Amino acid sequence: MNYQNYYVNDAVIHPKALQFVNKAQDDIISMFLKIDERAQYHQSRILNTFTRHRISQRHFAATSGYGYGDDGRDTLDLVFKDLFGCEDALVRPQWVSGTHVISDSLYALLRPGDTLLSISGEPYDTLHDVIGIKKCVPGSLCEWQVDYKQIELTPEGCINQAEIEKQLIDPTIKVVLIQRSRGYSIRRSLTIKEIRESIELIRKLRNDVFVLVDNCYGEFTEDQEPSSTKADLVVGSLIKNPGGGLAPTGAYAAGTKKAIQLLSSRLTSPGIGREVGSYPSSYQYFYQGLFLAPHTVAQALKGAILTGRIFDQLGYRVFPHWSDHRSDIIQAIEFHSSEELISFCQAIQSASPVEGYVVPYPWDMPGYDHQVIMAAGAFVQGASIELSADAPIKKPYVAYLQGGLTFEHVKLAIMKVLTVMQKEGYIQLI
Ligand SMILES: *Cc1c(COP(=O)(O)O)cnc(C)c1O
Repeated sequence: MNYQNYYVNDAVIHPKALQFVNKAQDDIISMFLKIDERAQYHQSRILNTFTRHRISQRHFAATSGYGYGDDGRDTLDLVFKDLFGCEDALVRPQWVSGTHVISDSLYALLRPGDTLLSISGEPYDTLHDVIGIKKCVPGSLCEWQVDYKQIELTPEGCINQAEIEKQLIDPTIKVVLIQRSRGYSIRRSLTIKEIRESIELIRKLRNDVFVLVDNCYGEFTEDQEPSSTKADLVVGSLIKNPGGGLAPTGAYAAGTKKAIQLLSSRLTSPGIGREVGSYPSSYQYFYQGLFLAPHTVAQALKGAILTGRIFDQLGYRVFPHWSDHRSDIIQAIEFHSSEELISFCQAIQSASPVEGYVVPYPWDMPGYDHQVIMAAGAFVQGASIELSADAPIKKPYVAYLQGGLTFEHVKLAIMKVLTVMQKEGYIQLI
């Protein structure tokens, strides 16, 4: 069968885009071996954990009301605890997003008069109002008299250890925040090795601070998670990596008994904690999504490397470089203008399985300082483990591409992007 005819005639992909993408895939194919090997390793760990906890149909039973004794819920906590190699864990659909679990963690660990110290520079955009970084908005930590300080990453994008030593002298510092992923910025993502070294330094200096790691987008991209370090709490969203594309909502936290105990009081209320919370829709997709997660993350990583390779070849700056070590699934591409940026995101949306007929435009999204354009044609609304692209409309004009339930989908989407961008005169394929 001549597949090419189908792509060119039915899928309306320019023959040169098809060629260009196939060639790029050939160039990077050897990098896929390591990714597959790691997925195999994580798959094995997950299978082992499921077997040990005797996962069965009864864990998928719907619960209602208070949800006392919900085995599906409580066993999922144990599965995450084992998989993340820590003392305790909480996995809840009642957390509406990653921001929610990070926010709950901060409110759980900090008290009036305390200081929060970020050692990975400016935190993710949606946390600005939680902390009250730019404005002391009602309900923010700022309003609760919690102070905030941050240490910038070094010009090389590393954690500034010398500055940590200096800042930690301040006895009011109670929580140190580390963000693993680049998020919406072109800084490097932090590796587990760097995170471990910094936490060891913090532990040497102070035993009375909590270390909180924002692990969003990082899960299963490396051999270990930040929970294998001396972090107190590692948190992330379930509509990103660990939900495997199936989890419909929710977030998780993994950490020490003490930190999880404090967080459980914030999750519901003191005294009730983790023992209530029902879920009538069944936990099946959380288990099944976790089971798929290593594979899904591998698909997303391959798509990210392919995209990085292609846009590097087309003369754009890409972060990380396609050949770099990765600690998250994000591929950032710097465009020359807002028009190119918008064209890219609109083309990604047109290659989406859900609402592919919709044309996205920049809008004032809650929690963000600038207008944002989003290509998010996902089955689970806003799920960024599914192929999606986000771009704040500001200089430098950077699009953040992430996810992809299948590598095939990412590849198709990029072929579509190249076709559109060539037609609109932004690129010249040879
Ligand atoms: C996604 C993300 C968050 C949380 O975002 P939500 O959209 O609220 O889930 C926080 N930090 C980082 C680095 C992220 O990537």
